Amino acid sequence: MTGQTRIWTPIDYDADGKQSDCLRLPHSTDLSAYGWVPIPLACIKNGSGPTALLIAGNHGDEYEGQIALCKLAREIRHDQVSGRLIILPGLNSPAVAAGRRVSPLDEGNLNRSFPGDAAGSPTQMIAHYVCQVLIPMADIVVDLHSGGRSLDYAVSALVRPGRTVEEHEKLLRLLRLFGAPISFVSDGTGGGGLTTLAAAAQQQGALVLTTELGGGATLRKEGLALAEAGLKRILKDQGILRDLATQPASPTRFMTVKGHDAFVYAHSRGIFEPAADIGDEVVGGQIAGHIHFPDLPTREPETLFFATSGLVACRRAPSLTERGDCLFKVMEDIDIGPDRASHA
Ligand SMILES: [Zn+2]
Repeated sequence: MTGQTRIWTPIDYDADGKQSDCLRLPHSTDLSAYGWVPIPLACIKNGSGPTALLIAGNHGDEYEGQIALCKLAREIRHDQVSGRLIILPGLNSPAVAAGRRVSPLDEGNLNRSFPGDAAGSPTQMIAHYVCQVLIPMADIVVDLHSGGRSLDYAVSALVRPGRTVEEHEKLLRLLRLFGAPISFVSDGTGGGGLTTLAAAAQQQGALVLTTELGGGATLRKEGLALAEAGLKRILKDQGILRDLATQPASPTRFMTVKGHDAFVYAHSRGIFEPAADIGDEVVGGQIAGHIHFPDLPTREPETLFFATSGLVACRRAPSLTERGDCLFKVMEDIDIGPDRASHA
């Protein structure tokens, strides 16, 4: 994470009021030699106080967060804020415009690109700007994801394990406040490890909450409603939003993902027939699904099994499947102790 960012914006992060414009990501092409790609940005500030960095569109084909953040940016008046809201509803904007997980400019997966590179590809430059400019301003970071085109997810929120007991307690409290039906603690085994925005923000000392609000590149109403209500609860609790009615959080079920056995992968190319759906309770050894081979009609399908017991957190959305595709992820309950949310 060295070098000076080449991204700039007319938005003054220190100015009071509501500003709406964009980041300018330099991108030089045949038809736009000195051009830039816009990344939408709203900043709502009123006096001193904590800063919340709210992000969606880190992956372009995940929609609940994009809409929730646009609604928030329209709805919140600056006189309802104590501190600052920095809202980016479509962070990897080329991916958002293309309706894709990754950027069509460089095939970059933004949430595998942290801490980024000031002189790198467009996606690496975005990650670098987030790391070097945005995260250092933030006390709390919420990065809203869903499953995208390839996965359908149970509506859930997640945090990385806290680096201290105190941080872990604060993160569990955030999960209770957000109020997703399922909350899970994950070290990123299935995906990004330390290359994610959440990991980068946590390393810089911010409290970080992430979500999975639906998937399949469509919109789940339940996930959108949770994003709107959960964000308001958290921002009000942090003292950043005031004079705003919020509904109490619903109880959440704390779960975790335990290693690679929690995942079911395809071993062959074919058509995936799932034998379970998201939200189902399954046991280890149970049939997870079959891979069919329609080009060889008499060939027996491959049968896949769950390796662990628990709740089906996500399921592959497309039927056509390649060897190595993730078909299911299973979560297990964890005991996180008595509810201390109301006392913190
Ligand atoms: Zn995502």
